[in-house]
Amino acid sequence: MTYKTALEWIGTQQDKMLADVLSLSNLNSGSANVAGIEQVVDQLSALAASLGATEERIALPPRSEVLDNGQILEKQSGPLLRLTKRPNANRRVLLVGHSDTVYPLDHVFQTCRHLDDNTVNGPGVADMKGGLVVMLTALQALERSPHAENIGWQIVINPDEEIGSFASAPYLDEAARAADVGMIFEPALADGTLAGARKGSGNFTLIARGKAAHAGREHHLGRNAIAALARAMALLDDLNGQHEGVTINLAKLTGGGPNNVVPDFALCRFNIRVPTPEGQSWAEQQLELIIARINAEDGISLELHGGFGRQPKVMDKAHEQLFALLRSCGADLGLPPIEAKATGGCCDGNNLAAAGLANIDTLGVRGGAIHSTEEFLLVDSLSERAKLTALLLMKLASGEASWPERATTVR
Ligand SMILES: [Zn+2]
Repeated sequence: MTYKTALEWIGTQQDKMLADVLSLSNLNSGSANVAGIEQVVDQLSALAASLGATEERIALPPRSEVLDNGQILEKQSGPLLRLTKRPNANRRVLLVGHSDTVYPLDHVFQTCRHLDDNTVNGPGVADMKGGLVVMLTALQALERSPHAENIGWQIVINPDEEIGSFASAPYLDEAARAADVGMIFEPALADGTLAGARKGSGNFTLIARGKAAHAGREHHLGRNAIAALARAMALLDDLNGQHEGVTINLAKLTGGGPNNVVPDFALCRFNIRVPTPEGQSWAEQQLELIIARINAEDGISLELHGGFGRQPKVMDKAHEQLFALLRSCGADLGLPPIEAKATGGCCDGNNLAAAGLANIDTLGVRGGAIHSTEEFLLVDSLSERAKLTALLLMKLASGEASWPERATTVR
């Protein structure tokens, strides 16, 4: 088999891969740490240098954040890194990763340590600095093989995945529409199980404004923003269980002031998860009805911010086809059967699917306890998963495997 040399080369890279992951993970790159993300991007760019791709660092527009007092603040993101090779090839692969982590600069979890020979605990080792190293190593293997010339590829590494990819979403969408298959390097579960279907997710902030008044002298002149918001929230909570798989989580409530003042301001935050586009339309409709109903009250105004940043990722025929191909690659490498499990969590795989691009989004390392101080990486999965992606790339590039069909109805 013509893939053997490239796969064997990956085997020789295991120690270097681990060293690269440790060095990347010891750099803090919480989503708000722009300087840290720039440092991580510098390191990634150096690691990718031998690939000979065209590099761009793209400054993203600021994202707006609604503060607890209703003020809207503009926040800066780090740079998006884009690397492109053979853009005019007939067949193109999009590889996506993120440079940010969930751990801010002042978090207690900042450095890596070995728990045993095969387990490293550290911030981002699995989610997803390990995955970024897997991606770059797999591409190096592809480029060492004779099949590379048949395909083009693009890497997009965004700095804001952990906060919903709002600023980078247009770039993901653009890249997804120009590609034939998508690969994302979020971690697999410790046993190698991948994520299949993913729910869509919307984050919302609802602000209620009423009219302040003295609670004793002129209570009747006041319009209570907290009471109005509470009525809206109760209606929102009642939506749970009304539509298959749609859930609403009221997450935060703030507002009001002294006991003798009718409050004129209240704010709540909530999340909605939807399994299908139909579920999403239903939820959007219900949300509109509830807001209209409370807005009709005398002296009350509701203002909604946010939206569905992640559309549902449904396992359609193209995704089934791609997973079948990956399973065959796993079998060729002697790995245990690769399972895919539906999840309520979401990632950039949702965005690529919404642009009509079939993708597997958990091609990164095996690991677990992500988003906690227990986050771990199983070290032997570095070269194992790089071989898996390299074989997938080479089978597509050589023409041995057929490419997944593009979705005909793009949302
Ligand atoms: Zn991640």
